[in-house]
Amino acid sequence: MNFPNIELFPYNTGISPNGNLSIGGCDVSDLAREHGTPLYILDEVTLREKCREFVNTFRDYYPNTRVVYASKAFINLALANLFNEEGLGLDVVSGGELAVAQKANFPSDMIYFHGNNKSADELSMAVDYNIHRVVIDNFHEMTLLDSIAKEKHIVQDVLLRVSPGIDPHTHVYTTTGVLDSKFGFSIQTGQALQAVEMARGLSNVRIVGLHFHLGSPVFELEPYTKAMEIVLNFAEESNLDISEISPGGGFAIAYTRDQTPPAVKEYAEAITSTLKGRDNLQLIIEPGRSIIGRSGIAIYSIGSSKDIPGIRKYVSVDGGMGDNIRPALYQAEYEAVIANKMGSDVAEKVSIAGKFCESGDILLRDVMFPLLEAGDILAIPAAGAYAPSMASNYNMVPRPAVVMVKDGKSRVIRRRETYDDMMIYDLV
Ligand SMILES: *Cc1c(COP(=O)(O)O)cnc(C)c1O
Repeated sequence: MNFPNIELFPYNTGISPNGNLSIGGCDVSDLAREHGTPLYILDEVTLREKCREFVNTFRDYYPNTRVVYASKAFINLALANLFNEEGLGLDVVSGGELAVAQKANFPSDMIYFHGNNKSADELSMAVDYNIHRVVIDNFHEMTLLDSIAKEKHIVQDVLLRVSPGIDPHTHVYTTTGVLDSKFGFSIQTGQALQAVEMARGLSNVRIVGLHFHLGSPVFELEPYTKAMEIVLNFAEESNLDISEISPGGGFAIAYTRDQTPPAVKEYAEAITSTLKGRDNLQLIIEPGRSIIGRSGIAIYSIGSSKDIPGIRKYVSVDGGMGDNIRPALYQAEYEAVIANKMGSDVAEKVSIAGKFCESGDILLRDVMFPLLEAGDILAIPAAGAYAPSMASNYNMVPRPAVVMVKDGKSRVIRRRETYDDMMIYDLV
């Protein structure tokens, strides 16, 4: 089979009897015809397997582990139900993500609320829903939450988000645990200690643990180990009795063949090696990308092309930065195949352009493909995370549908937007 990058695709990827790409037993060209393009396809088996891999692997190393899915990677009602079925918790970073969790009847004692500027309304909503933990990011939020909790006569258990001052060597836009970051209380500057002291003086928030998040994707293991040690030391030095600790998420996946992220068990080993003899401490890990990334592929129809002799050939697709802003936002790289030409040899080097009115809207640069014709179906793997969840209506382009595939059947879990949908909020 001529399929060198199959490792980037969902587990149930293959070639259908008529030679097309197939995912979860569904011919991708048929899905394109049935549901239209651009289309996001999630393989249910891969998604559930990833949930189980994280839970089982981490618990093998450290039984007292809770796996909490980071909603911002991609959430909707069907996905919230799936994560609940798999026994995962849910990280939310906004009232909107919390509203999805509520609507899906996600158990409140499995919900964690993150973010560097939670509003009073959002905090009230979280307290009213009786969520498990608010992760306090800054001084303003601590006093705000304390006063909200006081009004409602409850004591809110919280984690304190600290910044350990560790650089995970990822893109500067996705680095969060360094000194110069908008997130969390810096240990280095003494502000984390100040936050602990401040909390001691408040009666309606109670720190039960510490949290940090290094950035994403983190291909190295050492930053996790080092940061865990720094944060555990910080707890000890500040006489803070904690029962929970979270190193956040950020576990890498491969988007291209040359990327080799650590295995889940390597992350588990690196993180839990710092917890020897401490099994009363609950470990909370928050994978997002590594849970949903590989289960998703994005498919597009090929349209126009522009050949600039001696320079570059651009071939355009019917989506782009509106449904996947990662290449434009942080030079993210992808690979792709042509779903209806899986047997063809590569013949030309092209750049795949999106349809949005920005020169930076290029999904792939200088990649070898078979000869492309209008109507061909381009399939980009590892597209489940931070693509549909960051989608916009830029250029008034409706956002794509999302289908879940399993056993040769597809189920729409988010329908394609219509032009009317986009105007539904407009008043004249
Ligand atoms: C974004 C984020 C995550 C998830 O990151 P991934 O790279 O998707 O695993 C986890 N925790 C926090 C606090 C985050 O901000």
